Amino acid sequence: MHASRRHFIALAAAMASSPLLIGTSMAAPSAVAENDPTAQSLGYKSDAARVDKVKFSKYQAGQACANCQLYQGKAGDASGPCPLFAGKEVSAKGWCSAYVKRA
Ligand code: SF4
Repeated sequence: MHASRRHFIALAAAMASSPLLIGTSMAAPSAVAENDPTAQSLGYKSDAARVDKVKFSKYQAGQACANCQLYQGKAGDASGPCPLFAGKEVSAKGWCSAYVKRA
């Protein structure tokens, strides 16, 4: 009993100081990669200028994540969260086919 409690404490201490856990809890979310399966299916580009305008004819100049209704970054930020890419950040200059103009 005593030994298993000590083992538990040692394990908890090891986990608390694990660089891996600290890294995942404190590091900034990673940027969405264009070759991510969700990004590919939505035609996401980190720079709206590179959107496939033939495939995504709904794209209009001036549209970007920064002025999309789903974008959750702050004004002026280079990137921010988007609910379509949980745990990652999209570029403020990016675009995908789920774009909805912010009202
Ligand atoms: Fe950007 Fe909007 Fe597409 Fe999210 S839904 S990636 S904010 S254009």
